[in-house]
Amino acid sequence: MSTLPTTPASTPADSTPTVLITGTSSGIGLAAAIAAARAGWRTVATLRDTSRADALRKAASEAGVELDIRQLDVVDESSVAAAVNGVIADYGRLDAVVNNAGAGHVGTLEQESVADVRKVMEVNFFGVLNVSKAALPHLRATGGRLITVTSVGGVIGQPFNEAYCAAKFAVEGYMESLAPVAATVGVSVSVVEPGAVATEFVTNIGLDIEGEIAAAGPYAGALRTYVDRTVAQFMNGAQTPAGAAEAVMEALTAERPAFRIQTSEWARDFTGTKLADRDGSAVLGMTGTWVS
Ligand code: NAP
Repeated sequence: MSTLPTTPASTPADSTPTVLITGTSSGIGLAAAIAAARAGWRTVATLRDTSRADALRKAASEAGVELDIRQLDVVDESSVAAAVNGVIADYGRLDAVVNNAGAGHVGTLEQESVADVRKVMEVNFFGVLNVSKAALPHLRATGGRLITVTSVGGVIGQPFNEAYCAAKFAVEGYMESLAPVAATVGVSVSVVEPGAVATEFVTNIGLDIEGEIAAAGPYAGALRTYVDRTVAQFMNGAQTPAGAAEAVMEALTAERPAFRIQTSEWARDFTGTKLADRDGSAVLGMTGTWVS
Protein backbone atom coordinates (compact mmCIF):
# COMPACT_ATOMS: atom_id res chain seq x y z
CA MET A 1 0.00 0.00 0.00
CA SER A 2 1.25 3.48 -0.75
CA THR A 3 1.28 6.30 1.81
CA LEU A 4 -2.08 7.93 2.42
CA PRO A 5 -2.46 11.57 1.42
CA THR A 6 -2.76 13.61 4.59
CA THR A 7 -6.11 15.17 5.31
CA PRO A 8 -5.85 18.87 4.45
CA ALA A 9 -5.08 20.72 7.68
CA SER A 10 -6.53 24.05 6.68
CA THR A 11 -10.00 25.12 7.83
CA PRO A 12 -12.38 25.48 4.88
CA ALA A 13 -12.31 29.09 3.67
CA ASP A 14 -16.09 29.45 3.88
CA SER A 15 -19.06 27.25 4.55
CA THR A 16 -20.59 27.12 1.05
CA PRO A 17 -20.83 23.44 0.12
CA THR A 18 -18.82 22.74 -3.01
CA VAL A 19 -19.48 20.03 -5.56
CA LEU A 20 -17.35 19.05 -8.55
CA ILE A 21 -19.14 17.35 -11.45
CA THR A 22 -17.42 15.68 -14.42
CA GLY A 23 -18.68 15.63 -18.02
CA THR A 24 -20.95 18.67 -17.95
CA SER A 25 -20.90 19.59 -21.65
CA SER A 26 -24.28 17.92 -22.16
CA GLY A 27 -26.88 15.52 -20.83
CA ILE A 28 -27.11 14.40 -17.23
CA GLY A 29 -23.92 16.21 -16.15
CA LEU A 30 -25.15 19.53 -17.53
CA ALA A 31 -28.59 19.08 -15.92
CA ALA A 32 -27.02 18.05 -12.60
CA ALA A 33 -24.74 21.11 -12.62
CA ILE A 34 -27.73 23.42 -13.09
CA ALA A 35 -29.77 21.59 -10.44
CA ALA A 36 -26.92 21.70 -7.91
CA ALA A 37 -26.28 25.41 -8.48
CA ARG A 38 -30.01 26.10 -8.14
CA ALA A 39 -29.99 24.24 -4.83
CA GLY A 40 -27.28 26.58 -3.51
CA TRP A 41 -24.17 24.47 -4.09
CA ARG A 42 -21.00 26.12 -5.31
CA THR A 43 -20.82 24.09 -8.48
CA VAL A 44 -17.57 23.32 -10.25
CA ALA A 45 -18.76 22.11 -13.63
CA THR A 46 -15.92 20.38 -15.44
CA LEU A 47 -15.44 19.46 -19.09
CA ARG A 48 -12.60 17.75 -20.90
CA ASP A 49 -12.80 20.45 -23.57
CA THR A 50 -13.86 23.84 -22.22
CA SER A 51 -14.50 25.12 -25.75
CA ARG A 52 -17.60 22.89 -25.63
CA ALA A 53 -19.15 24.84 -22.74
CA ASP A 54 -21.67 26.89 -24.79
CA ALA A 55 -24.73 24.76 -23.93
CA LEU A 56 -23.71 24.73 -20.27
CA ARG A 57 -23.24 28.52 -20.18
CA LYS A 58 -26.57 29.06 -21.93
CA ALA A 59 -28.40 26.75 -19.50
CA ALA A 60 -26.79 28.51 -16.52
CA SER A 61 -27.76 31.92 -17.85
CA GLU A 62 -31.36 30.76 -18.49
CA ALA A 63 -31.54 29.31 -14.98
CA GLY A 64 -29.98 32.46 -13.47
CA VAL A 65 -27.23 30.51 -11.72
CA GLU A 66 -23.45 30.80 -11.58
CA LEU A 67 -21.11 27.94 -12.36
CA ASP A 68 -17.37 27.65 -11.99
CA ILE A 69 -16.41 26.01 -15.29
CA ARG A 70 -13.08 24.17 -15.33
CA GLN A 71 -11.15 21.71 -17.49
CA LEU A 72 -11.01 18.07 -16.38
CA ASP A 73 -10.38 15.04 -18.57
CA VAL A 74 -11.06 11.97 -16.44
CA VAL A 75 -8.48 9.83 -18.26
CA ASP A 76 -5.69 12.36 -17.71
CA GLU A 77 -4.39 12.16 -14.13
CA SER A 78 -2.60 15.51 -14.33
CA SER A 79 -5.79 17.22 -15.52
CA VAL A 80 -7.72 15.59 -12.66
CA ALA A 81 -5.09 16.69 -10.10
CA ALA A 82 -5.04 20.24 -11.46
CA ALA A 83 -8.84 20.54 -11.22
CA VAL A 84 -9.15 19.08 -7.71
CA ASN A 85 -6.13 20.99 -6.36
CA GLY A 86 -7.44 24.18 -7.97
CA VAL A 87 -10.78 23.82 -6.17
CA ILE A 88 -9.02 23.30 -2.84
CA ALA A 89 -6.68 26.24 -3.48
CA ASP A 90 -9.58 28.54 -4.35
CA TYR A 91 -12.28 27.40 -1.93
CA GLY A 92 -10.51 25.34 0.71
CA ARG A 93 -13.13 22.61 0.58
CA LEU A 94 -14.75 19.89 -1.50
CA ASP A 95 -18.01 18.43 -0.18
CA ALA A 96 -19.08 16.21 -3.04
CA VAL A 97 -17.97 14.77 -6.34
CA VAL A 98 -20.29 13.55 -9.06
CA ASN A 99 -18.50 11.15 -11.39
CA ASN A 100 -20.80 11.61 -14.35
CA ALA A 101 -18.47 11.52 -17.39
CA GLY A 102 -18.85 8.35 -19.40
CA ALA A 103 -19.14 7.07 -22.94
CA GLY A 104 -21.19 4.32 -24.54
CA HIS A 105 -19.88 1.61 -26.82
CA VAL A 106 -21.73 -0.91 -28.97
CA GLY A 107 -20.06 -4.11 -30.13
CA THR A 108 -19.63 -7.77 -29.31
CA LEU A 109 -16.53 -9.85 -28.61
CA GLU A 110 -15.80 -10.99 -32.16
CA GLN A 111 -16.34 -7.47 -33.54
CA GLU A 112 -14.06 -5.56 -31.21
CA SER A 113 -10.42 -5.70 -30.22
CA VAL A 114 -9.22 -5.97 -26.65
CA ALA A 115 -7.71 -2.51 -27.20
CA ASP A 116 -11.24 -1.19 -27.89
CA VAL A 117 -12.44 -2.70 -24.62
CA ARG A 118 -9.50 -1.15 -22.74
CA LYS A 119 -10.51 2.28 -24.06
CA VAL A 120 -14.06 1.78 -22.78
CA MET A 121 -12.68 0.74 -19.37
CA GLU A 122 -10.29 3.72 -19.39
CA VAL A 123 -13.08 6.32 -19.54
CA ASN A 124 -15.88 4.57 -17.67
CA PHE A 125 -13.92 2.78 -14.94
CA PHE A 126 -10.38 4.15 -14.55
CA GLY A 127 -11.67 7.69 -15.17
CA VAL A 128 -13.97 7.29 -12.16
CA LEU A 129 -11.05 5.96 -10.11
CA ASN A 130 -8.75 8.83 -11.11
CA VAL A 131 -11.25 11.44 -9.95
CA SER A 132 -12.36 9.56 -6.83
CA LYS A 133 -8.77 8.96 -5.69
CA ALA A 134 -7.85 12.63 -6.09
CA ALA A 135 -11.01 13.75 -4.28
CA LEU A 136 -11.22 11.33 -1.37
CA PRO A 137 -8.74 13.03 1.02
CA HIS A 138 -10.73 16.26 0.63
CA LEU A 139 -14.08 14.48 1.03
CA ARG A 140 -12.69 12.96 4.24
CA ALA A 141 -12.03 16.49 5.50
CA THR A 142 -15.64 17.57 4.95
CA GLY A 143 -17.48 14.30 5.64
CA GLY A 144 -18.48 14.51 2.00
CA ARG A 145 -20.15 12.44 -0.69
CA LEU A 146 -18.78 10.41 -3.58
CA ILE A 147 -21.48 9.92 -6.20
CA THR A 148 -21.06 8.03 -9.46
CA VAL A 149 -23.47 7.85 -12.37
CA THR A 150 -23.34 4.22 -13.47
CA SER A 151 -26.24 2.69 -15.42
CA VAL A 152 -28.87 0.00 -15.23
CA GLY A 153 -26.19 -1.63 -17.41
CA GLY A 154 -24.04 -1.76 -14.28
CA VAL A 155 -26.55 -4.22 -12.82
CA ILE A 156 -27.83 -6.11 -15.86
CA GLY A 157 -25.50 -7.06 -18.71
CA GLN A 158 -26.97 -6.08 -22.06
CA PRO A 159 -26.38 -7.58 -25.50
CA PHE A 160 -23.83 -5.75 -27.71
CA ASN A 161 -22.87 -3.65 -24.66
CA GLU A 162 -20.37 -6.14 -23.24
CA ALA A 163 -17.49 -3.69 -22.77
CA TYR A 164 -19.66 -0.82 -21.55
CA CYS A 165 -21.54 -3.01 -19.08
CA ALA A 166 -18.27 -4.61 -17.90
CA ALA A 167 -16.97 -1.12 -17.11
CA LYS A 168 -20.18 -0.10 -15.32
CA PHE A 169 -20.25 -3.43 -13.40
CA ALA A 170 -16.65 -2.71 -12.40
CA VAL A 171 -17.62 0.72 -11.12
CA GLU A 172 -20.58 -0.72 -9.19
CA GLY A 173 -18.42 -3.46 -7.68
CA TYR A 174 -15.69 -0.99 -6.77
CA MET A 175 -18.08 1.50 -5.18
CA GLU A 176 -20.11 -1.20 -3.39
CA SER A 177 -16.84 -2.46 -1.89
CA LEU A 178 -15.56 1.03 -1.09
CA ALA A 179 -18.81 2.24 0.52
CA PRO A 180 -18.38 0.56 3.92
CA VAL A 181 -14.69 1.52 4.06
CA ALA A 182 -15.39 5.16 3.12
CA ALA A 183 -18.17 5.26 5.73
CA THR A 184 -15.58 4.59 8.44
CA VAL A 185 -13.93 7.92 7.54
CA GLY A 186 -17.25 9.76 7.21
CA VAL A 187 -17.63 9.71 3.41
CA SER A 188 -20.88 8.49 1.85
CA VAL A 189 -20.74 6.61 -1.45
CA SER A 190 -23.68 6.26 -3.85
CA VAL A 191 -24.26 5.07 -7.39
CA VAL A 192 -26.97 6.55 -9.59
CA GLU A 193 -28.43 4.15 -12.16
CA PRO A 194 -30.18 5.66 -15.20
CA GLY A 195 -32.10 3.72 -17.83
CA ALA A 196 -32.54 5.36 -21.24
CA VAL A 197 -32.06 9.12 -21.00
CA ALA A 198 -32.47 11.50 -23.95
CA THR A 199 -28.94 12.96 -24.10
CA GLU A 200 -26.05 13.05 -26.56
CA PHE A 201 -25.06 9.61 -25.27
CA VAL A 202 -26.21 7.59 -28.31
CA THR A 203 -25.00 10.18 -30.85
CA ASN A 204 -21.64 10.38 -29.07
CA ILE A 205 -21.09 6.65 -29.65
CA GLY A 206 -20.70 7.69 -33.28
CA LEU A 207 -22.15 4.45 -34.57
CA ASP A 208 -22.76 3.88 -38.28
CA ILE A 209 -25.66 1.50 -37.58
CA GLU A 210 -26.18 0.18 -41.10
CA GLY A 211 -22.42 -0.20 -41.59
CA GLU A 212 -22.09 -2.11 -38.31
CA ILE A 213 -24.98 -4.41 -39.21
CA ALA A 214 -23.55 -5.02 -42.69
CA ALA A 215 -20.21 -5.97 -41.12
CA ALA A 216 -21.67 -8.08 -38.31
CA GLY A 217 -21.64 -11.43 -40.20
CA PRO A 218 -23.37 -14.10 -38.09
CA TYR A 219 -24.45 -11.45 -35.57
CA ALA A 220 -26.24 -9.24 -38.12
CA GLY A 221 -29.77 -10.44 -37.32
CA ALA A 222 -29.22 -10.18 -33.58
CA LEU A 223 -27.68 -6.71 -33.93
CA ARG A 224 -30.60 -5.54 -36.10
CA THR A 225 -33.10 -6.81 -33.48
CA TYR A 226 -31.12 -5.15 -30.69
CA VAL A 227 -30.83 -1.82 -32.52
CA ASP A 228 -34.55 -1.76 -33.40
CA ARG A 229 -35.50 -2.44 -29.79
CA THR A 230 -33.09 0.16 -28.43
CA VAL A 231 -34.16 2.85 -30.90
CA ALA A 232 -37.82 2.24 -29.95
CA GLN A 233 -36.90 2.43 -26.27
CA PHE A 234 -35.13 5.77 -26.68
CA MET A 235 -37.94 7.14 -28.90
CA ASN A 236 -40.76 6.12 -26.58
CA GLY A 237 -39.46 5.80 -23.07
CA ALA A 238 -36.36 7.94 -22.57
CA GLN A 239 -36.24 10.06 -19.45
CA THR A 240 -35.20 13.73 -19.63
CA PRO A 241 -31.71 14.66 -18.39
CA ALA A 242 -33.34 16.91 -15.78
CA GLY A 243 -35.36 13.91 -14.55
CA ALA A 244 -32.21 11.81 -14.24
CA ALA A 245 -30.44 14.69 -12.49
CA GLU A 246 -33.08 14.58 -9.75
CA ALA A 247 -31.60 11.25 -8.65
CA VAL A 248 -28.14 12.85 -8.55
CA MET A 249 -29.62 15.58 -6.36
CA GLU A 250 -31.11 12.95 -4.07
CA ALA A 251 -27.65 11.43 -3.65
CA LEU A 252 -26.26 14.91 -3.03
CA THR A 253 -28.84 16.17 -0.56
CA ALA A 254 -30.72 13.31 1.14
CA GLU A 255 -29.85 13.09 4.81
CA ARG A 256 -28.90 9.42 4.40
CA PRO A 257 -28.68 8.66 0.67
CA ALA A 258 -29.10 5.05 -0.41
CA PHE A 259 -26.08 3.34 -1.93
CA ARG A 260 -28.05 2.52 -5.10
CA ILE A 261 -30.41 5.15 -6.54
CA GLN A 262 -32.26 4.45 -9.80
CA THR A 263 -33.31 7.51 -11.79
CA SER A 264 -36.85 6.34 -12.69
CA GLU A 265 -39.58 3.88 -11.84
CA TRP A 266 -38.61 1.97 -15.00
CA ALA A 267 -34.99 1.72 -13.85
CA ARG A 268 -36.13 0.52 -10.41
CA ASP A 269 -38.29 -2.24 -11.93
CA PHE A 270 -35.58 -3.22 -14.40
CA THR A 271 -32.74 -3.52 -11.89
CA GLY A 272 -35.16 -5.26 -9.51
CA THR A 273 -35.24 -8.16 -11.99
CA LYS A 274 -31.57 -8.85 -11.36
CA LEU A 275 -31.38 -8.06 -7.72
CA ALA A 276 -34.11 -10.63 -7.00
CA ASP A 277 -32.66 -13.14 -9.49
CA ARG A 278 -30.13 -15.21 -7.59
CA ASP A 279 -29.25 -17.69 -10.35
CA GLY A 280 -29.35 -15.22 -13.24
CA SER A 281 -32.02 -17.11 -15.23
CA ALA A 282 -34.63 -14.34 -15.15
CA VAL A 283 -32.16 -11.82 -16.60
CA LEU A 284 -30.92 -14.10 -19.39
CA GLY A 285 -34.53 -15.11 -20.11
CA MET A 286 -35.32 -11.43 -20.60
CA THR A 287 -32.27 -10.22 -22.54
CA GLY A 288 -32.39 -13.30 -24.77
CA THR A 289 -35.65 -11.96 -26.17
CA TRP A 290 -33.88 -8.72 -27.11
CA VAL A 291 -31.91 -10.47 -29.82
CA SER A 292 -34.14 -13.30 -31.04
P1 NAP B 1 -23.60 12.58 -22.85
O1 NAP B 1 -24.58 13.66 -23.15
O2 NAP B 1 -22.86 11.93 -23.97
O3 NAP B 1 -22.59 13.11 -21.75
C1 NAP B 1 -21.40 12.43 -21.44
C2 NAP B 1 -20.43 13.44 -20.90
O4 NAP B 1 -19.21 12.76 -20.55
C3 NAP B 1 -20.06 14.51 -21.93
O5 NAP B 1 -20.00 15.76 -21.27
C4 NAP B 1 -18.68 14.07 -22.39
O6 NAP B 1 -17.86 15.15 -22.83
C5 NAP B 1 -18.15 13.52 -21.09
N1 NAP B 1 -16.92 12.77 -21.26
C6 NAP B 1 -16.67 11.73 -22.07
N2 NAP B 1 -15.38 11.35 -21.96
C7 NAP B 1 -14.81 12.18 -21.04
C8 NAP B 1 -13.52 12.32 -20.48
N3 NAP B 1 -12.51 11.53 -20.85
N4 NAP B 1 -13.30 13.27 -19.54
C9 NAP B 1 -14.30 14.10 -19.15
N5 NAP B 1 -15.54 14.05 -19.67
C10 NAP B 1 -15.80 13.10 -20.60
O7 NAP B 1 -24.34 11.36 -22.12
P2 NAP B 1 -25.14 11.26 -20.73
O8 NAP B 1 -26.26 10.36 -21.01
O9 NAP B 1 -25.39 12.58 -20.13
O10 NAP B 1 -24.06 10.43 -19.86
C11 NAP B 1 -23.77 10.78 -18.52
C12 NAP B 1 -23.56 9.49 -17.73
O11 NAP B 1 -24.79 8.75 -17.70
C13 NAP B 1 -22.51 8.56 -18.32
O12 NAP B 1 -21.70 8.02 -17.28
C14 NAP B 1 -23.34 7.46 -18.97
O13 NAP B 1 -22.64 6.25 -19.04
C15 NAP B 1 -24.52 7.40 -18.02
N6 NAP B 1 -25.75 6.80 -18.59
C16 NAP B 1 -26.41 7.37 -19.63
C17 NAP B 1 -27.56 6.76 -20.13
C18 NAP B 1 -28.36 7.33 -21.28
O14 NAP B 1 -29.27 6.65 -21.78
N7 NAP B 1 -28.11 8.54 -21.73
C19 NAP B 1 -28.03 5.57 -19.55
C20 NAP B 1 -27.33 5.02 -18.49
C21 NAP B 1 -26.19 5.64 -18.01
P3 NAP B 1 -17.63 15.52 -24.38
O15 NAP B 1 -18.73 16.45 -24.72
O16 NAP B 1 -16.29 16.15 -24.39
O17 NAP B 1 -17.68 14.23 -25.16
